[in-house]
Amino acid sequence: MRLTLAKIVLPQVIQSMTSTTPPQMTHCCQSMQYFADYHCPDHANPFDCPDQLIVYHAPTRSYGLIVHDGGSSTIEIRFCPWCGTHLTGSTAV
Ligand SMILES: [Zn+2]
Ligand SMILES: [Zn+2]
Repeated sequence: MRLTLAKIVLPQVIQSMTSTTPPQMTHCCQSMQYFADYHCPDHANPFDCPDQLIVYHAPTRSYGLIVHDGGSSTIEIRFCPWCGTHLTGSTAV
């Protein structure tokens, strides 16, 4: 019995990789957008993931820089490390 492989149709990812601003930009820049929304497929807990730099707390619109010391420490950041935008932090609550 032979399996017939269907022709693989690639999704049009190339179009979405162009450098236009994404329609639903919730952060100050694309770098922050990437890291704040980053979800690692391998680590359910962001503190376990070496690729996860930023945690974003939506209710207070605050950003924390993950301290990878084996625990779950964060440093609240007031300015974007990439573009320098002043971030509205938890003090506004
Ligand atoms: Zn930024
Ligand atoms: Zn990971």
